[in-house]
Amino acid sequence: MSASDPSLTDELLEDVRVAVYQSLARTGRLPDPDQLVSIAGSAKRVTAAIEQLAQQRAWALGPDGSIELAHPFATRSFGYSVMSATTLWWGGCCWDSFAIPHLVPDCGPTIIAGACPACDRPLVWRVDTHAPPSGPERAHFLVPTSRMWDDVIHTCSNQLLFCNDECIDAWLQRTGYDEGYRMDLATLWRFAAEWYAGRLERGYRRREPAEARSYFHEVGLRGAFWGLPEVPRQAEVR
Ligand SMILES: [Zn+2]
Ligand SMILES: [Zn+2]
Repeated sequence: MSASDPSLTDELLEDVRVAVYQSLARTGRLPDPDQLVSIAGSAKRVTAAIEQLAQQRAWALGPDGSIELAHPFATRSFGYSVMSATTLWWGGCCWDSFAIPHLVPDCGPTIIAGACPACDRPLVWRVDTHAPPSGPERAHFLVPTSRMWDDVIHTCSNQLLFCNDECIDAWLQRTGYDEGYRMDLATLWRFAAEWYAGRLERGYRRREPAEARSYFHEVGLRGAFWGLPEVPRQAEVR
């Protein structure tokens, strides 16, 4: 990794970031390389800007140094397609996929499809911004928030939707992974709804850890997995 290039101002980095996000939102694809060159001044500076933005966690790079995950968008399959009337996206994890219809302005209802990681059954949901989809499926998140960015590609690859709890059990047994965190579709939908708000516009600011924790709590997530205090079961009001 090269050291950060001092000629890349915050403003220029933000121009590059927004161009990438706007293109992904509009088309599901990265912008034309020429467009980024015209913003940054040269191909070398584009590479440096993309690297610097990766260090700031604007996105995650693949082995070849290209953008692989610009949450909630991916540039390769992470297991989920998200389809609107006009656009087809790769969602990152299930959380990212559910976030896309909330984030992309006026995209209308989407069809999100994937396969159960345990039994390979095809799963599909119609997701819009009005109400969570209904269904028995359950999401399982493997990596706790405190370690999410240790290897964000691994983290995202393991935020998955299953047919039900039995399929999560079978998958944990097969992979040897420890139990992470399970949630229903309604919680996943609420969790995804506002998380990425503002990311397509200039001046987006990532949530501070305390802000993130209060968002997690607000949408119904509980316990140490989310950096929240453990709630004794009998004390939980439902
Ligand atoms: Zn299944
Ligand atoms: Zn993700």
